[in-house]
Amino acid sequence: MQARAYLQLSVAVALVTIALKTAAWWWTGSVSLAADALESLVNLAGAVFALAMVTLAALPPDEGHPYGHHKAEYFSSGFEGILIIAAGLGILWGAADRWQHPQALDAIGIGVALAVVSSALNGLMAWAMLRKAREVRSVALEGDARHLITDVWTSAGVVAGLLGVMATGWQWLDPLLAIVVALNILREGVHLMRESTGGLMDQALDAESMNQVHAVLERFIPPHAIRFDHIASRVAGRRRFIDLHMHMPASWTLGRAAALRGDVEQALMSAVPGLRCTIQLLPMDVEAHTMDEEDLI
Ligand SMILES: [Zn+2]
Repeated sequence: MQARAYLQLSVAVALVTIALKTAAWWWTGSVSLAADALESLVNLAGAVFALAMVTLAALPPDEGHPYGHHKAEYFSSGFEGILIIAAGLGILWGAADRWQHPQALDAIGIGVALAVVSSALNGLMAWAMLRKAREVRSVALEGDARHLITDVWTSAGVVAGLLGVMATGWQWLDPLLAIVVALNILREGVHLMRESTGGLMDQALDAESMNQVHAVLERFIPPHAIRFDHIASRVAGRRRFIDLHMHMPASWTLGRAAALRGDVEQALMSAVPGLRCTIQLLPMDVEAHTMDEEDLI
């Protein structure tokens, strides 16, 4: 089975678990089960997002999009982030209301049984996806599997809480757990939003990759009497871009300069996977017009 087929299956599993957990909530009136059902929506969003990422990453650059389509995923993650935050706030609202107006739960046994079945389904799916992710080294698949595992733990917590309510009669355990789940959902929503705004704002490469870039460049400076400056980087989905100037003695032939540029490019690309670099060749004492003065305002 292909990685894509696993992701399509995980969308189907997310839909089934949402249905099971919604039924559990409807049966028992438990707000923590309602929160758990909404958390499965996060999984659905995650699976759809991962599927879109895998599909879009396969699209080659075209005439209208010569840099590729890597940024499209940020739109979907931003949209999902908003949905997830709205869901988290809804649960908090419901849980706070239940806290003030406690209500006895019905048919806890049925609710617990449905939650256990849906968690088993999630656990099985996560296990299969993690195995495949290791085999094909897919980041999207692994991320989706990790979401699922978080969901299994949340459900386990909710089930333990409901069994606690059954054993002790402490009704407040239910809204308390719902609040914990809601905070976790909000955390995931904020994380998705930050990822998407970071990408749309042309976020720089992470510090570790930049250190590798600088380490590579420093290797070339002493033997060649050259200078690198105006180093700028940005991330677009799984693709990383870097632009820089390579200044060298004006007496060099273009052929010599281009050969060295090729070496620098190769060294950079093998140090940072997925990197694309654009290197401008300039004499030592000439600077490119990188910015129009009037643009600075
Ligand atoms: Zn320069």
